[in-house]
Amino acid sequence: MKIVETVSEVRQCVKQWRKEGLTVGLVPTMGYLHEGHKSLIDRAVSENDRVVVSVFVNPTQFGPNEDFESYPRDMDKDSALCEDAGASLIFHPQPEKMYLDGYSTFVDMDTITKGLCGKTRPTHFRGVCTVVSKLFNIVAPDRAYFGQKDAQQLAVIKHMVRDLNFDIDIVGCPIIREEDGLAKSSRNTYLNEAERKAATVLSRALSEGKKFMADGEKKSSDVKKIICDIISSEPLAKIDYVEIVDWNNLEPVEDTEGQVLCAIAVYIGKTRLIDNFVTL
Ligand code: AMP
Repeated sequence: MKIVETVSEVRQCVKQWRKEGLTVGLVPTMGYLHEGHKSLIDRAVSENDRVVVSVFVNPTQFGPNEDFESYPRDMDKDSALCEDAGASLIFHPQPEKMYLDGYSTFVDMDTITKGLCGKTRPTHFRGVCTVVSKLFNIVAPDRAYFGQKDAQQLAVIKHMVRDLNFDIDIVGCPIIREEDGLAKSSRNTYLNEAERKAATVLSRALSEGKKFMADGEKKSSDVKKIICDIISSEPLAKIDYVEIVDWNNLEPVEDTEGQVLCAIAVYIGKTRLIDNFVTL
């Protein structure tokens, strides 16, 4: 496995693979890799001849008061995990090489980026769409892999690929969780012991909501209330949002028939965590 920092080195590798008739998968990440990322890399390795993992803490998707500087980084651990999983190449660019002096082109989206996480993080998806477009242009993969953990991001990327005619298959992969249900996340490392315990409230609340729906509850507002009540019973938790939306267009729905996304964002202390499930 190779680790490269420049766009031209990535292009050189991919060009060689293409000459050999090989297929290429891409797994975009911000690093500090865990089992959730590994599940994406495993899937990519099983479906492509070569896999590129990008490790890039992308400054444009962080708001001014967010955790860009303190976001955890560990390239040694990341490269070991990628190598073990069978990746062929890590692309690890420096921010100033991705965003050259005078950088001024952004990919933005009008509709599905505005609700859910877009309310609290109004510039987040503009940064995500921009960096993912750049990675798509740099690697030009056959397939790219994204986690259902970031459900809105997955929907946004699918929408962008459709709108901008990227010739790339987007593959969504299931959420990988800790044994106690907490969705794995690089940001879980911010939690102290008490917060880590409290953080299980996200998956517990979602499980109850899901059960309630499976038992026949159709009103979104009633399902949301069950979820909110459970989260509010945890003193260290503060709700950012609890929403039930149509999985196809992310529009809020009054009833839970059809394929819906139930998504939540919750502050545990200062750490903002997200989780979700999709029905059907
Ligand atoms: P990140 O490094 O947080 O930007 O995540 C990179 C990719 O890994 C995204 O597509 C995430 O949705 C995915 N991912 C992160 N955590 C998980 C998880 N617990 N299960 C599945 N995929 C995940």
